[in-house]
Amino acid sequence: MQVPMLDVRRQNAPLERELREAFDRVLRSGNYILGADVERFERDAAAVAGARFAIGVSSGTDALLAAFLSLGIGRGDEVICPAFTFFATAGCIVRVGATPVFADSRPGCFNIDPASVERLITPRTKAIVPVHMFGQPADIDEILDIARRHGLRVVEDTAQSFGAAHRGHPVGALGDVGTVSFYPTKNLGAFGDAGLVLTNDPALDAQVRLLRNHGAERQYFHRTVGGNFRLDAIQAALLAVKLPLLAGYTAGRQENARRYHRLLDGIPGLVLPAVLPDRTHIFHQYTVRAPGRRDELRAFLTERGIGSAIYYPVPLHLQECFRDLGPQPSLPVAEALAEQALSLPVFPEMTEEEQGAVVEAVREFYGR
Ligand SMILES: *Cc1c(COP(=O)(O)O)cnc(C)c1O
Repeated sequence: MQVPMLDVRRQNAPLERELREAFDRVLRSGNYILGADVERFERDAAAVAGARFAIGVSSGTDALLAAFLSLGIGRGDEVICPAFTFFATAGCIVRVGATPVFADSRPGCFNIDPASVERLITPRTKAIVPVHMFGQPADIDEILDIARRHGLRVVEDTAQSFGAAHRGHPVGALGDVGTVSFYPTKNLGAFGDAGLVLTNDPALDAQVRLLRNHGAERQYFHRTVGGNFRLDAIQAALLAVKLPLLAGYTAGRQENARRYHRLLDGIPGLVLPAVLPDRTHIFHQYTVRAPGRRDELRAFLTERGIGSAIYYPVPLHLQECFRDLGPQPSLPVAEALAEQALSLPVFPEMTEEEQGAVVEAVREFYGR
């Protein structure tokens, strides 16, 4: 049986009529960038994230850029982020002229290790960027506490965790600024690139709105140098169709995760993802660890038609493009995760039969 890692068509096909109606409405409106559809989506998305303000932007990457620029982060500043995350988190730190300082991760939950963060703080540190990895909130209380004690800003990279919660509070607006991605494979997927910046601070809201439009408050009068980070009306209108369904998609992912937990429990050599107390894990990914055998397991699954993915094969402190940052200290947990992590299909539309095939193949690999 063929089991895809993800099939976004299954999610979008049942919505075709509503999506076409939304598309036609925007098509006929003649208004394709920002405008009423974007404003409505911003309001509804802010409510999901428990944020006072949400600013629609062109991608999760541009959300990070706008977030760092809005906080005045630039040349001479250090920003602490995890080494085990998607590239954009650190790439955007470099793009604003600052220096990424890579922290190690916690083995069980793939998230940034607060103890590692604390050790990396210097007089030049300006901000910490916890990434809520794979759908599970990071140790945000500890991070906020470190930031408070050292006078640092916190940017939550919520690209993988829009709708997740920590002690009942949605993540994304717990620090100074949060960033969200609606890349088509994310838990709420657009039909192209789209993203969101979250904040509770009216001044930062105003600054991000300025930055996303070349720093212009009115056309051709530029108060600051920003960029074109604007959200398209089409994306906002289509996302608005799917936003009310996000909780249902999440429930489907969580149910699939629970089933994996039950059916894959107790296989020696296979480490299942930890779900930490006090947080809602929305399972953007269901990521196991297969110490010493990850690539072999992946090849075995591929041979049987089972999709899987390696997020991420190279931790950021070892990336070629960051070599000129100088020698990097070893980060044993991040390096081990890059060698051991394997994400299995967990998308909400996966059938029980498909999941059974995944489980059976994994069990067969381990001879169980
Ligand atoms: C997807 C992702 C991004 C970037 O989002 P895009 O919309 O693809 O630009 C940033 N950070 C993390 C952790 C991500 O997973």
